[in-house]
Amino acid sequence: MTIVMNEEPRRKVVEAAGARLGGGNFGIIAGPCTVEGREMILETARVVADGGATMLRGGAYKPRTSPHSFQGLGVEGLRLLQEAKEQTGLPVVTELLDVRDAGHVAEVADVVQIGARNMQSYALLTEAGRTGIPVLLKRGLSATLEELLMAAEYVLKEGNPNVILCERGIRTFETAYRFTLDLLAVPALKSMTNLPVIVDPSHAAGRRDWVEPMSLAAAAAGADGVIVEVHPDPDSALCDGKQSLALDRFAGYSERVRQVAQLAGGAVPAAL
Ligand code: PEP
Ligand code: MN
Repeated sequence: MTIVMNEEPRRKVVEAAGARLGGGNFGIIAGPCTVEGREMILETARVVADGGATMLRGGAYKPRTSPHSFQGLGVEGLRLLQEAKEQTGLPVVTELLDVRDAGHVAEVADVVQIGARNMQSYALLTEAGRTGIPVLLKRGLSATLEELLMAAEYVLKEGNPNVILCERGIRTFETAYRFTLDLLAVPALKSMTNLPVIVDPSHAAGRRDWVEPMSLAAAAAGADGVIVEVHPDPDSALCDGKQSLALDRFAGYSERVRQVAQLAGGAVPAAL
């Protein structure tokens, strides 16, 4: 296996529109699963910016299990994310689902997300690499860490060194929660690569009351950040409402997660 990512022994710091993630910079990426409309994304962006978020997340193109579910607002969703960025200064993280949308996504995204279902879509990874924009790469539902790292290599190979790896839960025999959050992936990946590693507790838990404990655990495990779903009215969300935090919970959540990250920081070696 050829690994180019380990040539640099220091921990990688990924910079996106002024925000830094990795190498001691703990990031909180927050926002709705999906951009549903103007008011909801602007309100969410304002609240998470005030509550200490580092970046704003929001899908304009959604990978839905059913083709009959809401697929996202597309270009209009991207335009609304741009407006949210202008109002708050938060860098935008949004998913690239299809190589044909790369141009539109690259105009707005400060970080391009590649979703779990596309972790091994090699043409998409190559295209994401070619945008030159930092890439947030989610672990596939049944992918090993080696497969995740090889997927990251597709981006790096295009001369794009800015990849953030994300553990978001994997498929196991357990059905009591949406996915099994594999927190050992955090120290394991950090021993294998210098890339930042973040955790998505929302998609693993599938339930909002389990999101904070798993976020605290991720911070304690040495993660470089979390990506978390929040919504102004979770019960009426078009996508992933059950796992979304309400806006009034966000500031307290963010403060507690940062406290644990600070406590854990000293335990993570600065070099590999
Ligand atoms: C998401 O971030 O909303 C998402 C669809 O995540 P994943 O690809 O991890 O399922
Ligand atoms: Mn989601």
